Amino acid sequence: MASSPPFYITTPIYYVNARPHLGHAYTTITADVACRFHSMRGTDTFFLTGTDEHGDKIVRAAKKEGLSPRTYVDRISGQFKDLWPQLNISYDRFIRTTDPAHMAVVEKILQKIHDEGDIYFSEYEGMYCYGCERFYTERELGDGKCRDHQTQPEVIREANYFFRMSRYQEWLVDHIREHSDFIRPERFKKEVLSFLKDPLEDLCISRPKSRLKWGITLPFDDRYVTYVWFDALINYVSALGYPDGEDFVKYWPSAQHIVAKDILKPHGIYWPIMLKAAGIPVYQHLNVHGYWNVDESKMSKSLGNVADPLAMKKDYPGRWPNRS
Ligand SMILES: [Zn+2]
Repeated sequence: MASSPPFYITTPIYYVNARPHLGHAYTTITADVACRFHSMRGTDTFFLTGTDEHGDKIVRAAKKEGLSPRTYVDRISGQFKDLWPQLNISYDRFIRTTDPAHMAVVEKILQKIHDEGDIYFSEYEGMYCYGCERFYTERELGDGKCRDHQTQPEVIREANYFFRMSRYQEWLVDHIREHSDFIRPERFKKEVLSFLKDPLEDLCISRPKSRLKWGITLPFDDRYVTYVWFDALINYVSALGYPDGEDFVKYWPSAQHIVAKDILKPHGIYWPIMLKAAGIPVYQHLNVHGYWNVDESKMSKSLGNVADPLAMKKDYPGRWPNRS
């Protein structure tokens, strides 16, 4: 059989502030189906999933249950890991952002970008949503409230490290225009391009340890941990053994991601720019899907309307064989 290029697909790493629900299962089943398809055609495939385990929300969720962050993330991550085989999903690797090997790669990439001059230190005052763990611009807020949390962000002032995304804005617009299937389907590509019509603000990528300790320490300033997105996105390369692991060399050139539309911006803007700044080739495709709605609202833990994938499995038993 003629050999085709390998197929590498990832789900997002799921944030362990809540148990897995049908939305997580949908994304992961989609990745599994794509992987089975390519596998059956004789293509060498690699399927990555995992859990995102740092940040403020995790600390608060653990506290609520009276557990240390470590005990808490072990428990929830385990629930995700146990769920997938029960749905006949067969991933090749399950990564956790608390894995020491992942943490070492995050430090390496932060240091590299810092050495290149694309991370700088500055004071900042802005509107911060504790739920999202990020600052918002006035334009993003619209009516003054965070859309996801329906709360008014608080004004806070802080010295932090910033990632010079603005330097790469033009490059990213050109890249998206020249690679028409870089972000698909079309409507999400348009959404990213429309966002890029305005000047891109630099990204705050640190949190002072006085406010958050549960994260990866910046290799160039131990008073700070890195922002969760910077930590999380790097899993897609750390899981393959970046920079010189055999799997990285083999699979990264054909990388594609599947995400739901709520995380379009980190994947369609932050991540390609991080890769570019770190001197890593960008991924091939970002595949974006919508939400599972219950009535008119997105299925989510904070709204308390989640469907349990295992209960669904009982109602709709599958007959899929395991992928070999
Ligand atoms: Zn929010």
